[in-house]
Amino acid sequence: MLNILVVDCLARAGGSRYSTFDVAGAGPRIVAGLVEEHGFNVKLEAYELAIKKRFDNIHLLFISAMSSDILAVRKFIYNAVKRGFRGIVVLGGPVSIGYRDVLSRFEEIDYVVVGEGEIPVEKILVHIDALISRDENVLRKIPALAYRNSSGDVVLTTPPIHTPIDKLSKLKPWVRVNGSYPYYRAIRFYVEVVRGCSNFRRPRIKSGELKCIDCGFCLSNDFKIRLKCPSNIPPGCGFCSVPYVFGSPRSRSVDSIVDEIEGLISHGAERIVLSAPDLLDYGREKLVEPNPLTDPCYPNANIDALEDLLNAIFSIEDVASGRVTVMVENVKSCLVNEDVAKLLGRFFKDTSIHIGVETGDDWFNDYVLGKPISSKQVVNAVKLLREAGLRPCIYLMHSLPFENIRVYDNTVKLVKQLAKIGVEKITLYKFKPIPGSAFEKLKVETCFPREVNRLKKIVSRVNRVGKKAYLNRTLEVYIVKNSRGCYGYPVKHGPVVVVKNTCRDSDEGYKAIVKITGVSDRVVYGEVLREIY
Ligand code: SF4
Repeated sequence: MLNILVVDCLARAGGSRYSTFDVAGAGPRIVAGLVEEHGFNVKLEAYELAIKKRFDNIHLLFISAMSSDILAVRKFIYNAVKRGFRGIVVLGGPVSIGYRDVLSRFEEIDYVVVGEGEIPVEKILVHIDALISRDENVLRKIPALAYRNSSGDVVLTTPPIHTPIDKLSKLKPWVRVNGSYPYYRAIRFYVEVVRGCSNFRRPRIKSGELKCIDCGFCLSNDFKIRLKCPSNIPPGCGFCSVPYVFGSPRSRSVDSIVDEIEGLISHGAERIVLSAPDLLDYGREKLVEPNPLTDPCYPNANIDALEDLLNAIFSIEDVASGRVTVMVENVKSCLVNEDVAKLLGRFFKDTSIHIGVETGDDWFNDYVLGKPISSKQVVNAVKLLREAGLRPCIYLMHSLPFENIRVYDNTVKLVKQLAKIGVEKITLYKFKPIPGSAFEKLKVETCFPREVNRLKKIVSRVNRVGKKAYLNRTLEVYIVKNSRGCYGYPVKHGPVVVVKNTCRDSDEGYKAIVKITGVSDRVVYGEVLREIY
């Protein structure tokens, strides 16, 4: 019997995290669940646990990572080989879209599963002997698999394939997280509720390889026509690869989501995040069947489907009692109206909720980024969510291709407006081209250091004000102590608390009350007053 180890390398960058030790993505658990269903000896381990073990008996490693984690992946494999590993390495996750670069540069990686994993991984498990013997006649038949052929060239068998909805609802992701993750009580376990994104607009610019011919397909009222662009511009926001890699939204069944959450809770999880590019896409694809859902803003959210899902989740005893916290990941602001805000407020009071805004310039967002969401919709959504008792946080980007002074000015204006309404946190990212996105090969760099600095300063001011609201307050947190220090993670999510007084070691993490004594842009500082349990 083969022994397989699934390793969660997500967000490990060069081999460690900065201060966010409390997140576990859904992907590695899905892969481990699939492997187990096929009858193999399998274990899922977080990078920090797996790196300490012996590997003599491990025959295959499935490693899940993002492109920014490639150094951690290489460190991990190097260490595994030193500790006796002689098997094969299959890489997957967001890093996979850059498979060509990965396989050309790093010989220690044997295979890459490109895009969604369910169908290729199942085929791999059926044909595992062919992977070991590198039988190309069989390898060629495994979809979305990249490898070096006998001549050393990198080949990809097929483009990424999208897992059908019925399969997504039958998944049994790994739930024995108490043996897989250190500090599992503190970790926010992401449970996938929707796969794929509904934005099939595109950047309509004419530059380099992006040659929009203004055919209007991606603006069409016919949702099927939006799938194809005659100029081969990948769908979605120009900086993002989600619609290309994961396709249009497909919602998992209520039962499968509830089963997974119950399984996680029975193995010690206390924090769950309902993961989706937009929670408000849940069940929305049903409203346009048999067409794919390719419009991010029309039709409105499927309130009935959302309510059914949330009622079922919040009927789980530990969730209803508040012992386990369930949170939302992202929503798109154009789908937030009064009914939606009221519904979310009923279930997610006091938790944070994230909205991708990118810039405050409507024309730029629509025409250049391919994101047809206006500042007015953002302001409205933040206001409604705030009034409903949630804590909205937003994402912005700078140094985007074609961004100019007007775009920065409008973004600063929007930030000021949002600050008045009381946005809790703004995360400002620097644009980096992502493989599989429309902007991947765009060789346009903008250079507005003064405007970027101005934006950074105002964002940092807003974040400081948001954090100052915590000063002298007490907060319920999960405590994690590791080699970097002692951190508190607010139960309902919020700023990381750097704990100044001593705290005890604990493999699973524990709850405590901390008093906030200081703030910076990124974190707050506090002292443990007492442990809860
Ligand atoms: S981006 Fe593509 S689909 Fe959209 S208008 Fe331009 S050519 Fe047509």
